[in-house]
Amino acid sequence: MLEKMEEFDSERVVEEFEAITKDAEKVQREALKKILEQNESAEYLQNLGLNGRIDPEGFKACVPLVTHNELEPYIQRIVDGDPSPILTGKPITTISLSSGTTQGKPKFIPFNEELMESTMQIFRTSFAFRNREFPIGNGKALQLIYSSKQFKTKGGLAAGTATTNVFRNSKFKRTMKAMQSQSCSPDEVIFGPDFHQSLYCHLLCGLIFREEVQFITSTFAHSIIHAFITFEQVWEELCSDIRYGILSSRITVPSIRTAMSKLLKPNPELADLIHRKCTGLSNWYRLIPELFPNAKYIYGILTGSMEPYLKKLRHYAGELPLLSADYGASEGWIGANVNPHLPPELATFAVLPNIGFFEFIPLRDNIENQDHNGMESSLLCEEPEPVGLTEVKIGEEYEIVLTNFAGLYRYRLGDAVKVVGFHNSTPELKFVCRRNLLLTINIDKNTEKDLQVAVEAAATLLEEEKLDVVDFSSHVDTSTDPGHYVIFWEINGVASEEVLQECCNCLDRSFIDAGYVSSRKVKTIGALELRVLRRGTFHKILDHYLGLGAAVSQFKTPRCVGPTNNLVLQILCANVVKSYFSTAF
Ligand code: AMP
Repeated sequence: MLEKMEEFDSERVVEEFEAITKDAEKVQREALKKILEQNESAEYLQNLGLNGRIDPEGFKACVPLVTHNELEPYIQRIVDGDPSPILTGKPITTISLSSGTTQGKPKFIPFNEELMESTMQIFRTSFAFRNREFPIGNGKALQLIYSSKQFKTKGGLAAGTATTNVFRNSKFKRTMKAMQSQSCSPDEVIFGPDFHQSLYCHLLCGLIFREEVQFITSTFAHSIIHAFITFEQVWEELCSDIRYGILSSRITVPSIRTAMSKLLKPNPELADLIHRKCTGLSNWYRLIPELFPNAKYIYGILTGSMEPYLKKLRHYAGELPLLSADYGASEGWIGANVNPHLPPELATFAVLPNIGFFEFIPLRDNIENQDHNGMESSLLCEEPEPVGLTEVKIGEEYEIVLTNFAGLYRYRLGDAVKVVGFHNSTPELKFVCRRNLLLTINIDKNTEKDLQVAVEAAATLLEEEKLDVVDFSSHVDTSTDPGHYVIFWEINGVASEEVLQECCNCLDRSFIDAGYVSSRKVKTIGALELRVLRRGTFHKILDHYLGLGAAVSQFKTPRCVGPTNNLVLQILCANVVKSYFSTAF
């Protein structure tokens, strides 16, 4: 029987969004009421003595702000199979694993149908706005998406990354179809057990359907870059597969081979065309529009820790627009990009007031409240009270606190955002960075953003040698006295000693935080060290995370490797080819 095709009515979706954002405060009250009524019987809420209160004031008075740490014992009982209403009224049957970038191990987070529904609502909303400005034709999307390993917890719950839980849900496929965005790869490729084989086949499917591909997408920019770097290495093999209609022997998973054999037919003309295109390119500039002549844009999360990949992405994309995808986390979605024309550096996210209850902790001087290991203290003493969604102020920075339909109440997400405007009465946020401090030894405090700015400044010195930083990370080395910052760089070639020494000095000078500069001057922080890594080191780190059950679709390079992430630190340290100490101070 034919599956009923879902109609996508852009105008209706836009109207719905306009309606819920007109009186965001009212919608927030209703969302909270719904969450608390649905979960009234949850042990967690009962213990807090909510006694049926459903108003924001009562909620805030009874329920404390928490981090994942405080909820872990409750979540663990769910994971272990306790069927009683612990965090939610209805039992949780699926668990999401967050990427676990910072701590080195994934966190367990409850997932349910309501989270799935809000994911689809966010996707539909941003698509409706996107399609008004960048309409796509009837075709397919090259979706560079992957499933993580799914497994059953001790208590029999299905567990996988949040993206995997979404991709596996039938609503995802239906929504993609309705939005003319269905993947050109078969399910066997998306859900294949081996990421490298899936990636190869995604590229092959993209080439087979090259005329139909309307856009290229992945959850995060990292996977798009990773795919095209791989293309540079395997393109001749891909051409050969297309020429003879025989799949490379590197694909060994039987289900993928069977699915691909249905698509792959000998096509020497296409193979010649791709071969001609690839050999005609200069340093792979404009690779994407050459391969996919009808692509209208590239779409994915391009903000925050993905910004360092923009330069490379623009190189592959040429004139194709880069459109930023929405803002959310395994814990729940937050905002949709309803201004798709803005470049990634300026992208904003309008909060959907009906998908959760949102609070915002003003950040101003808060950074003082963090301890010296770069970890956030959950017992912040003089922290300002969180404000409501419609009480935030333009120009101010906040940490997001989330209450969702899947058992998280007043949960600190750990992200810093800046309010840059309002859409009707809901704020438009700019992502700033993960809130936990990255680099700190004594009175110095540098965030992920500070590190990114320093690396960008120093990387311009490499441009003279036509080289780029492929990826980077950092570490606080306290084994020396005094302790010092270590910055790890993987570069796409060999730079001269003089330039690297200059880069190292520039990095040291680019951390302009007063605590750092003064400590460097009096030498209570030692000279910054730049450690240059062997090519492919960050691929090893990606593989390490995949081994832990992470998904490529959600992978984010850890920008600071702390003591809890010893294995990643070992990989980095074992691959250092040369190190430089700053002479800037
Ligand atoms: P995960 O733990 O894998 O679910 O990752 C969620 C985290 O990814 C968020 O808390 C953010 O730090 C980051 N993130 C998600 N969406 C965006 C975005 N649009 N821009 C920047 N960072 C994002």
